[in-house]
Amino acid sequence: MSDNHVYLDYSATTYIKPEVLAAMRPYLDTYFGNPSSIYALARITEQAIGQSREQVAAALNAAKNEIYFTGGGSEADNWALKGVAFANKQWGNHIITTKIEHHAILHTCEFLAQHGFEITYLPVDSEGLVDVDSLRQAITAKTILVSIMFANNEIGTIQPIAAIGKLCREKGIYFHTDAVQAVGHVPIDVQAMNIDLLSLAGHKFYGPKGVGALYIRKGVKIDNLIHGGGQERGKRAGTENIAGIVGLGQALELATTDIETENQRLTRLRDKLIAGLTAIPHSRLNGPVGAKRLPGNVNVCFRFIEGESMLLLLDSVGVSASSGSACTAGSLEPSHVLLAIGLTHEIAHGSLRLTLGAGTTEQDVDYVLEVLPGIVRKLRNMSPLWKEFLNKGGTKL
Ligand SMILES: *Cc1c(COP(=O)(O)O)cnc(C)c1O
Repeated sequence: MSDNHVYLDYSATTYIKPEVLAAMRPYLDTYFGNPSSIYALARITEQAIGQSREQVAAALNAAKNEIYFTGGGSEADNWALKGVAFANKQWGNHIITTKIEHHAILHTCEFLAQHGFEITYLPVDSEGLVDVDSLRQAITAKTILVSIMFANNEIGTIQPIAAIGKLCREKGIYFHTDAVQAVGHVPIDVQAMNIDLLSLAGHKFYGPKGVGALYIRKGVKIDNLIHGGGQERGKRAGTENIAGIVGLGQALELATTDIETENQRLTRLRDKLIAGLTAIPHSRLNGPVGAKRLPGNVNVCFRFIEGESMLLLLDSVGVSASSGSACTAGSLEPSHVLLAIGLTHEIAHGSLRLTLGAGTTEQDVDYVLEVLPGIVRKLRNMSPLWKEFLNKGGTKL
C-alpha cells in the first residue's frame, strides 16, 4: 500500500468513531454483569441497554419498546421477512419486494418461495426507483407484506418511502424497509412514513459490526426469532452484546446530530467526484442525481473495461473502492442492481462504486480524480473491446 490511503468504501462498512469506542470500552471489562441478573453490576448493564434502546427509538421517532437488538442488518432482514411471513400465513402467502434489494432480502425471499410463499419482484426505472402505481397494481387479496429498501447500497437511490408506507397502511399490508444504508445518513420518521418494520446495522454509521436492530411497530404480528431466555422481550433470546449495543446507540445519536451538516459536506464532495469521473470519455453515472441519491454514493460505469481490474489498480495506488459486480462462487456475474436499471452485461462489468464518509476529505476526491483517468486509459489500451471499438470507427472521446 502506498502512503496515500484513501478509503472510499463506507457503504461496505465504517470505522468506529473514537467517542463511540470510548463509550463501549467499560462494558467490555469493568461493567460486564449479565443484564438479566439482579445485583448492582447487572443493573448497570441493563440500564446501558435501555439507554441505547432510547437513543435508537429517538433517531427513528419510534417508542423504546418497539426496538429489538439483533446481530446485524442481515439478521434484522431475515427476521422481518420470515417472522412476518410465517406468523401471518393464514391471511395470505404473497410478498412484494424489488429486484434491487440486498441479498439479505432476496435470498430470504427465495427461501420463503420454497416454503409456499409467492414473491413479486417489482422492476425499477433507469434510476433505480420503484413506481408506487405499479406497487398498487401488484397488491392482491393475498398480499401480507411489502419489503422495499430505503436506499440502495450500490447506486444510492432513495425510494419514495412515505408514499409506499401510506399505500401499504391504506391497504392494511405490513411494510418493512431495509434501511441499513439510510439510518444515520438521511432523516427517518417511522410514524410519518407509516413504516411497520425497519432494519438497521451499527457498522454502517460508525458503530460496531455484528450488531443491529429491527424496529417492530407495536401490534405487528411476528414470530420470535431466537427461542431461549427472556431477552428482547422473549423475541430474540441470548445474553446481550452489551458493548455492541451501547456502541450502536451512541453512534446513532452522534450520526443523527450531525446529519444535516455532514449531508451537505458529502453531497458537495460527491457531486464534484461525479462531475470529474463522468468527464472521462465513455462513462456514465448509475443512479439518480440530487436529493434522490445518498449523499455519499458515487457509481460510475466505464465502457470497455472490467470493474475488477480498476479496483486492483486503484488499490495499488492506495484507494479502497468497490465494484458493482459481485463475484459469486468464482463466476463473475454482473450486479443484479445494474442489470435491473437496464445496463447490458458488458457495461455493468465496468462499474466502480466509491462511497464517501466521515473521513473523506477534498484531497481524497482530488487524488482519485488525478489517478483514475490514467487507470482507465491504461486498461482500455489493454482491452480487446476497446481496440474493436476503435477499429469500427469509434472515437476516443
Ligand atoms: C450492509 C447491508 C446489509 C447487511 O448488514 P450486515 O450488518 O452486514 O448484516 C443489509 N442491507 C443493506 C442495504 C446493506 O447495505
